Amino acid sequence: MTAPIYDRVALIGLGLIASSMFWAMKRAGLAGEVTGYARSAETRDTARRIGLCDRVCDSASEAVADADLVVLAVPVGAMAAVAAEIAPHLKPGATVTDVGSVKQSVIDSVGPHIPEGVFFVPGHPLAGTEHSGPESGFAELFDNRWTLLVPLPDTAPEPVARLRGLWEGMGAHVDEMDPAHHDLVLAVTSHTPHLIAYTMVGVADDLRRVTDSEVIKYSAAGFRDFTRIAASDPTMWRDVFLTNKAATLEILGRFTEELFALQRAIRTGDGDQLFDYFTHTRAIRRGII
Ligand code: NAD
Repeated sequence: MTAPIYDRVALIGLGLIASSMFWAMKRAGLAGEVTGYARSAETRDTARRIGLCDRVCDSASEAVADADLVVLAVPVGAMAAVAAEIAPHLKPGATVTDVGSVKQSVIDSVGPHIPEGVFFVPGHPLAGTEHSGPESGFAELFDNRWTLLVPLPDTAPEPVARLRGLWEGMGAHVDEMDPAHHDLVLAVTSHTPHLIAYTMVGVADDLRRVTDSEVIKYSAAGFRDFTRIAASDPTMWRDVFLTNKAATLEILGRFTEELFALQRAIRTGDGDQLFDYFTHTRAIRRGII
C-alpha cells in the first residue's frame, strides 16, 4: 500500500472504466474516499449493492463537492453536459480529468466549462473489454496497459505529475501526447478496427439465411474476435465516430484504397502482389512482438 495520492476522488459515470478505476485505486490505497455518481438510479443501486465507491451520491454536484480529483467516465457525447453541471461545485485547486476515447472534441467541449483555478488534464486509458456497466470492472484492467495523458500546453506540471502517479499506481504505463496525434493514432489502432468488426458481423448476419448458424458454429478465432469486439457498447462507439470524424474518415479512406488493391489482386489472380503484401504485414507483426 502506498500513501493516498488524492484524499477525495469523484467518479462520474459508473461503468467499466470507472468501476475498474475504483477497484484499482482500492487495491493500491491510492485514494482516501471515492464518491460516485451515475445518471441512472438502477446503476447507482447496483453500485451500492456491490460496494462500488465508498459513497454513491444521487447527484453529480454532491459527488464532486470537496473532491481533489474528478474523473469524467461517461460516453464522450455526454461529457460537456456533465462538465457544465458540475462546474459550479468544483473545489478550487481540484483536477478534472476524463477517460474518453477521443481527445480533441473532449478538450473543445469540456474545456470551456472548467472554472478558473481548477486544472483540466484529459486522459485515455488504452484498456477495455466488450463489457459495460458497474459490474464489469476489475482491478487488473489497467495493469501493463498504456494510459495517454493529453495535458493542455498551459497546464501546470504538478497536477499532470500527480495524475500520472495515480495511473501508474493503478498499474498503467503513462505517456503524454497532443490531442490531434492521439485521435489519429487511435483511429488506426482502435476506432477503425472496431468499425471493421461491426461491419464484418453485419455482413455475416446478412448472409444468415444462406449460412444458417454455421458462421458462429464453425467460426475460428478471427471471426469470433470480430463478434466480441462488435458486442461493445453502442452508445460509446456511436460517440467515438461522431467525435473523431476527421481522423476515422482519413483512415477509412486509406483502408478502402488498400482493400480495393487487394480486391483487384484477387480478381486478376495476382498472387505475387498478395504474397508480397502478406509477407510485409507478417514482418510488421513480428517487429511488434
Ligand atoms: P460504460 O457504458 O460501461 O459506462 C458509462 C457510464 O456512464 C454508465 O454508468 C452510464 O450510466 C453513465 N452515464 C452515461 N451518460 C451519463 C450522463 N449523462 N451522466 C452521468 N452518467 C452517465 O462505459 P465505459 O466503457 O466505462 O466508458 C466510459 C468512457 O470511457 C467513455 O468515454 C469511453 O469512450 C471511455 N473508454 C472506454 C473504453 C472501453 O473499452 N470500454 C476504453 C477506454 C476508454
